[in-house]
Amino acid sequence: MVTGRVVRIAGNRYQVETPAGLLECALTNTIRRARSRANKPAAVGDDVEVEPGTGGEGSLLRTLPRRTKLCRAKGSDGQTEGVLVANADRLLAVFAAKAPDPDLRLLDRALVMGDAGKMEAAIAFNKVDLAAPPPEAEMYRGLGYRVFETSTVTRQHLDALREWLAGSTTVLMGPSGVGKSSLLNALHPDWNLRTGELSLRIQEGKHTTTWVEMFSLPGNGWVVDTPGIETFGLWGIEPENLASYYPEFRKLEGTCRFRDCRHDAEPGCAIAGAAEAGRIHAGRLAGYRVMLRDLLDGQKPAWR
Ligand code: GDP
Ligand code: ZN
Repeated sequence: MVTGRVVRIAGNRYQVETPAGLLECALTNTIRRARSRANKPAAVGDDVEVEPGTGGEGSLLRTLPRRTKLCRAKGSDGQTEGVLVANADRLLAVFAAKAPDPDLRLLDRALVMGDAGKMEAAIAFNKVDLAAPPPEAEMYRGLGYRVFETSTVTRQHLDALREWLAGSTTVLMGPSGVGKSSLLNALHPDWNLRTGELSLRIQEGKHTTTWVEMFSLPGNGWVVDTPGIETFGLWGIEPENLASYYPEFRKLEGTCRFRDCRHDAEPGCAIAGAAEAGRIHAGRLAGYRVMLRDLLDGQKPAWR
């Protein structure tokens, strides 16, 4: 038995990187019986135990506990956990300074998902050769997020980004067209990324298709590309905990008039007060309220 990491999934075949090389693994009967109908027994990034066979094949015996997970709500009712990537240390939310304009509500959603999944979240505003990054970049730095201002044209901040990526497993998230592939290719000559080699196609229903691609970095570390962030529903977040994923809201915890204030429209809300006074970015609070609404609508039985 050896321990390895799932780097690719195609149907019921799991490609596992192990000390004995890359093994193409099938599921054992035990793990097949144990899995729930909706979920795969392992996700890209999972540490697994496998029994090596012959000819580069093996059997998947067991998935080891996850340190982190990037999840989304899936299924028609949004009541099923979909693990996109397991065991990533970091999440990099990638947006363009322009073309397309950055959607900061989507950015906040990515930051919440990263924090909720126990990943360190950071931001890249790409295409800064076309326009300055949004004025909010400084605000995000003030909240404690690392912010990169990159251009694959001028190669600005690429060295800093490469350094930051080294040695850890980082999930890249962002809408299509912001330059995620270009960034990976710009880092490619130095990093020897194995683009295209390790790829996973996740088919969810008839209309949505997303790709998760895992690129290995020389020495140590991985970059995982996950396009299609727009379609992801939040998972594993209770409405009453949502505010805890906002560093600037967290600081005001317990100072609202009502102990169970959801910072929606309650009187005496300290966070609404701080937003009115300009100490909290009004767009962050507005986006929070949209997410809160999503969570409340999706969890009516539990909430009422
Ligand atoms: P992805 O969908 O996020 O992977 O985006 P792509 O890497 O395919 O890039 C989308 C478009 O933006 C392409 O036409 C790229 O050439 C362009 N692009 C990517 N990075 C930059 C950049 O830093 N500056 C400029 N001006 N264009 C870029
Ligand atoms: Zn409040």
